[in-house]
Amino acid sequence: FLFKMKEEFKTSLFKTLPHQEANDLYESLQSNPTTSLRTNTKKTKLTPLNSHKVAHCNSAFYLNERPVFTADPAFHAGVYYVQEANSMWIGRVFEYLRSLITESVVVLDLCAAPGGKTTHISSLMQASDLLVANEVISSRKNILAENVSKWGDGNTWVCSADPMRFGNLGPLFDMVFCDAPCSGEGMFRKDPNAQYEWSLENIALCSSRQQRIVSDSWNCLKEGGYFVYSTCTFNTEENEENVNFIIDSLGGELVDVSKIDPSGVLYCLKKYQYRCFPHRSTGEGLFFAVIRKNSSPSKLIKNKAQRIEIKKSDINGFSYVGFRSKNWLIPNNHLQHLNLLYLLPGLFHVGTLFGDVFKGKWKPHPAIALLVIESSLPLVEINDQEAMAYLRREFIPKKSTQHGVVIMRWFEFNIGISNSINNGLNNLWPMEWRVRNQFLCNTVFPR
Ligand code: SAM
Repeated sequence: FLFKMKEEFKTSLFKTLPHQEANDLYESLQSNPTTSLRTNTKKTKLTPLNSHKVAHCNSAFYLNERPVFTADPAFHAGVYYVQEANSMWIGRVFEYLRSLITESVVVLDLCAAPGGKTTHISSLMQASDLLVANEVISSRKNILAENVSKWGDGNTWVCSADPMRFGNLGPLFDMVFCDAPCSGEGMFRKDPNAQYEWSLENIALCSSRQQRIVSDSWNCLKEGGYFVYSTCTFNTEENEENVNFIIDSLGGELVDVSKIDPSGVLYCLKKYQYRCFPHRSTGEGLFFAVIRKNSSPSKLIKNKAQRIEIKKSDINGFSYVGFRSKNWLIPNNHLQHLNLLYLLPGLFHVGTLFGDVFKGKWKPHPAIALLVIESSLPLVEINDQEAMAYLRREFIPKKSTQHGVVIMRWFEFNIGISNSINNGLNNLWPMEWRVRNQFLCNTVFPR
């Protein structure tokens, strides 16, 4: 592992930070990055093998070695999410802000793909809270929806729209998370490409794009709501200077969230603006600040009355909703949010995909097997080879006494859905999710 940082970058680091801090940071950037994952505690209480705990996230672990995650059915079943440890501080921020509010909240994750922070926030929400995850880049929106489906909380809707279209809605959200696209200095160890793309010009470009994203979307935050701005870069142009810009031009005040860091590992160059450094908190670079909005200039745009098709109500606390010619399963305590169906820009995923009815027969989507709640569908136990074959979307020649729709159960996890027929299991794993290569099954968990 060879890491050669540009001289200009080094100079900018030493200009920004006190000498010792810059030196420690620079040194830490020469070492190898760690691998970490966050477990889905609604699906498992297991601890991965050869791992140790992430101090600031009690569901997360550092792994001593990076395994081939694609070979682990638990990975595909949303039992854990491979996430850089310092970005888990954002989950902690959410948890803290959530504790300040008593009513249910509607939260926007504005720059959400591939979904690390989205799935973390969704895990920490209360039953009637709704998370809207947005990714403007069209080629990245599907991986976001896939990760949301696999995580299985059923409390997240997915959009693909420019931040401005959210701003145009008026004050709708209690919290907005803006994990802005940035120059990625904090990812240099993980992504050597970020080093080659680094330049002062690119920093200026990123900074003005970030200002545009925040200004364009600002109006969708309610008065008194929280705007959580974050980047994974170290320079002040994209961080503290942009936070100043937000406060000066948009009107807000910084929120003290130091309670989330009792051992004081975060570093503040400016008060109430937090930096996670690899030499202080094991992981990559992250910056965040929380801004509370003072005023709310314009009114919420009312949507035109639309007929929303609710198919059946109150089946195990869920309702089926017809949206964009698909059937979705949403928890009944989300029915209060249905007016958003025709308000949210670029909305294409609502709760949990329920599947299609084809020639009078139900063809379920595996998302229903990956939900964190118990299912009443029959289970068919499968072994390692069958699990890998299932993920490759192959027919499984396993006869079962159960006929019709069954859940594929591997180890202690539901990993998908099949249609059990006379001579075996017809695979219903989505084409877009299939594993293309042959892997020998392996899991991060002890068995
Ligand atoms: N929050 C994500 C997570 O935790 O997995 C990572 C988000 S990444 C730092 C920033 C995201 O912003 C990318 O997915 C990128 O495609 C998106 N993006 C790029 N240009 C954008 C723009 N102009 N407005 C909003 N988002 C943009």
